[in-house]
Amino acid sequence: MPKALISRRRALLLAAGGLAIPVLGVGQAFANPTTAATPRVYIDPGHGGSDSGAVGNGLLEKDLTLSIALQMRDHLKANWNVDIRMSRTGDTTRSLAYRSSDANSWGADLFVSVHINAGGGTGFESFRYTSASAGAVALQNAIHPAILSGMRSVSSVTDRGKKAANFHVLRETRMPAVLTETLFIDRASDAALLKNPAFLTATAKGHANGVAQYLGLGGGDPDPGPDPAWPTLRKGSTGEDVKTLQYLLKEHGRDLLVDGDFGPATETEVRAHQTALSLTVDGVVGAETWKATVMTRRNGDDGEAVKGIQSSLSAKHGISTVVDGDFGPGTDSSVRTYQSGKGLVSDGVVGPITWESLVS
Ligand SMILES: [Zn+2]
Repeated sequence: MPKALISRRRALLLAAGGLAIPVLGVGQAFANPTTAATPRVYIDPGHGGSDSGAVGNGLLEKDLTLSIALQMRDHLKANWNVDIRMSRTGDTTRSLAYRSSDANSWGADLFVSVHINAGGGTGFESFRYTSASAGAVALQNAIHPAILSGMRSVSSVTDRGKKAANFHVLRETRMPAVLTETLFIDRASDAALLKNPAFLTATAKGHANGVAQYLGLGGGDPDPGPDPAWPTLRKGSTGEDVKTLQYLLKEHGRDLLVDGDFGPATETEVRAHQTALSLTVDGVVGAETWKATVMTRRNGDDGEAVKGIQSSLSAKHGISTVVDGDFGPGTDSSVRTYQSGKGLVSDGVVGPITWESLVS
């Protein structure tokens, strides 16, 4: 199929050119899709079989990389016309040489290797080869921010940057290749996110969206994560969610009454809070302000934010919980009951996803 091969290579060059010239909109490189061959995406879930990869906090890297890679494949398939090949779709042992030569002999247009980091840091980083082609640089420039954006739809994540390394799968593959390192398996706070199915899904969608952007495919599903459900509260709002907000504002040091009534006094404190956090100062509490205001709370914590959780569980969600500001075993049990009832990870930790669920 020499004609198809030439056409695909030409299409890819056009795609890379489209990314290099900012004036061209995304998708214009494939303005005439009838002449462009279907792009070939090679997805490489790191490790597998007898090679667990990094291990920590009860997690194995090989399981996480497979979960992300399979969901990345599914998200690409569901939204764009691409051919996909994977180095493994189960718990299979694969050598590095197998991975690179399989991608080369298939004639992949791009290669993405999915890994989880270890060694005591935190956050996300991606790698291209030390002598990377222009295509590899373009792929990394597209996929790196797309993945961060996906992750950050669920939680704040440190950006460790776009890096270069002499890794086998980057050096020996003959197409643009990037290797991603999603969080640190040996750091408790990173591992908590890696145990959260919504986080893995958002990470996978970020990988897929980045590939689609690099290929100039356009369209598809630009939403990297779960549906936003933060309520918008403003002057005149009343009820339990307003009380939760007021408790959170008190935790941030604002001085106000917790009465479930978003009146002028609460609005004044919201504006002061928004100013202090360099948010849009409009006195309205939407997703931006909620995300910056909630605080992760777990067994052993105490304070006003804990009261906000207890009050919401008890008065809004009907899970009897003492509102005393002390996150002990009773509150832990209530939180787990709530989480399992909502299909969330039942870990007793109230992070952004559980907060969003409580007030939505
Ligand atoms: Zn790895």
